[in-house]
Amino acid sequence: MRTAFRLSMKVVSTAVLIGTFCFAQGPSRRGASDQLNSKPWMNTSLSPDERAELVLKEMTLDEKLNLVHGNGMPGWPGPPLPTAHLGNGGAGFVLGVARLGIPIIQMSDAAYGVRSSASNGRYSTALPSNLASASSWDPQAACDYGALIGRELRDQGYNMTLGGGVNLAREPRNGRTFEYMGEDPILAGTLVGNRIKCEQAQYVIGDIKHYVMNDQESGRNEVNAVIGKRAMRESDMLAFEIGIDIGHPGAVMCSYNLVNGDFACQNKYLLTDVLKHDWGFKGFVVSDWGATHSTIQSSKSGLDNEEPLPIFYGDKLKAAAQSGQVPISELDDHVRRVLRSEFASGIVDHPEQKAVVDVEAGFETSRKIAEQSIVLLRNQNNILPLDRNALHSIVVIGEKADFGMISGGGSAQVDPPGPPSAWQAHVWFPTSPLKAVKAKAPAANVTFDSGADRATAAAAAKQADVAIVFAHQWMSEGMDLPNLSLPGKQNELIEQVAAANPRTIVVLESGTAVTMPWLGRVSGVVEAWYAGSKGADAVANILFGDVNSSAKLPITFPRSEQDLPHPKLAVPPPNTGGPDTFRHPELAKATFAVNYDEGVKVGYKWYDAEDKPVLFPFGYGLSYTTYAYSDLSVSPGNETTVSFAVKNTGPKAGEEIAEVYASLPESANEPPKRLVGFSKVHLDPGESKQVTVRVPAKYLSVFDEAQNGWKLVPGNYTFRVGGSSQDLKLEQSAKY
Ligand code: BGC
Repeated sequence: MRTAFRLSMKVVSTAVLIGTFCFAQGPSRRGASDQLNSKPWMNTSLSPDERAELVLKEMTLDEKLNLVHGNGMPGWPGPPLPTAHLGNGGAGFVLGVARLGIPIIQMSDAAYGVRSSASNGRYSTALPSNLASASSWDPQAACDYGALIGRELRDQGYNMTLGGGVNLAREPRNGRTFEYMGEDPILAGTLVGNRIKCEQAQYVIGDIKHYVMNDQESGRNEVNAVIGKRAMRESDMLAFEIGIDIGHPGAVMCSYNLVNGDFACQNKYLLTDVLKHDWGFKGFVVSDWGATHSTIQSSKSGLDNEEPLPIFYGDKLKAAAQSGQVPISELDDHVRRVLRSEFASGIVDHPEQKAVVDVEAGFETSRKIAEQSIVLLRNQNNILPLDRNALHSIVVIGEKADFGMISGGGSAQVDPPGPPSAWQAHVWFPTSPLKAVKAKAPAANVTFDSGADRATAAAAAKQADVAIVFAHQWMSEGMDLPNLSLPGKQNELIEQVAAANPRTIVVLESGTAVTMPWLGRVSGVVEAWYAGSKGADAVANILFGDVNSSAKLPITFPRSEQDLPHPKLAVPPPNTGGPDTFRHPELAKATFAVNYDEGVKVGYKWYDAEDKPVLFPFGYGLSYTTYAYSDLSVSPGNETTVSFAVKNTGPKAGEEIAEVYASLPESANEPPKRLVGFSKVHLDPGESKQVTVRVPAKYLSVFDEAQNGWKLVPGNYTFRVGGSSQDLKLEQSAKY
């Protein structure tokens, strides 16, 4: 059903007037009158809280209500609101208060770039997928990622992002895995936090989503995620906690699903007890689109803003406020939070101004991040890097490998040059692997075969010095993968090509882990993920060694779906969900549950605990050089200092991601080990550096439900350090 809505969106959006009207409702500070500029809340030396409080006092009930709901989304079912023309073409907007100088909040989806640019006649850079960027393990890369999106949002007339997805990869078949940051809460939380911090530094309101346990798309509007509090706080919620702590996003988006019996957007435990109380979150909670199901309960539980339409937070909330069923103080809290985020993010003092997107700079950033995100998984007999002088013939094989590279779908979709991308269409960015390979080896005979006929492809491979197969696994919001296998006949294609020429290299364009029945028969495997606008150049730079590979997996590649905590994906019962979930959200209810009985054992913690061998472990990734670790010392304290040396023992300069894990005392009853820190270090050949990783006490703690707090279990802790979760040569114990 949602598909149809998204498709019709294109038609309706052309009727939406944009641009100058933004200033009609929410004047920019730039153009604001002296009278407005002299208002006490315009005093930038006051704190965002003080400024919000001052404005709040001036507002009428109707003005307040305007701030707690959206005004529609192009293509959303139902007639457009009279205010629809004030939107900027994005997923939603919240009215401002013109007379008080409060601007409209113009929101756009922006997971790996700004969405819907085609229908709005604009341009957006596609960055590598979020999961790809997590493979960089690099807070600076995450920062560059966020800053680019922040800039392009403003250039396109937006002042709020709806990006910042950080649901844990508990279920790798989840169709949105590419939008998230992998399976470890500390890695994911750190990176999303840095992304948000730098996004907001561009004066846009940041967002983190989907809070929480929206770990699969199947039946996402009707699934009850069942999980113990301790497990949830130490896994999925910890990613949010860290992300919020580092990034201070202006908004948290609550998710579609239920958590332990209550919809996430009316779940007091999640929104009030933990988010606002325990974590001290000062921004506002925005509902996912159509994820609000009530007025009084939602308001009381802590939902501040309903999107995209005022079904529960329009007239119904007004009536409830007037009758006292929703106290004015409660409504004020919602409004204050929205205002606070507007001041804190700088959108009041630094209004967005439409501008030409810096396409070249976007390409450069996108390529650089891709280079840090591409994971070298297999390199038999050092087939890589390819020696351009020694190769006479190369065949590039794969559907569309002459043209481009695939991207992830859904509300994350960035439009490539051309018309708007249809909902859940397979969208390829025009970054041609064939051209990029040709450019690297101008003297070689580089040919192309689409792989449609496997026999022809194998014959071409036989003739060539080396065969490079570009294989893809597309995924999208609104659906899960049936399995982790490459779709279509790609496995057979790779088998046949490798049988014809063992000097076969597979480049994977995937949104999550893939299984590789052919692994032992190919010489090289490179995980390029969804590599963005300049993906092919980045891949070629890695293949030919112009860039040394440094990325490491943020997600385990299992041997088979049978090894997952839930070999069979839970799906909704037949004839449930459907249009009513959107048209009558008040009727929506849980129709099935996913029991996350693996608890805290997400990803490598599961495989470790269950003793299951994997295809490629979490934190794994090869380089064209080698590293040696030595001299580990651990100084426990409020913040534990873990110090060690890393030496580049190989022939090439490189960047090593050093990983620090801790095993807790037996009595803590935790999985065998957890990541507690990491550091990326640049090393020239022969160079050695001392690396220090500081581990906050929380990262070594367990969540004590009875005390509702983090507790360091007394006992012996073992710290392990190395280059992958399964290659930890240094070990040192410490007593706490
Ligand atoms: C998605 C959100 C997105 C929103 C607006 C929802 O379907 O789950 O991630 O921000 O739509 O497009």
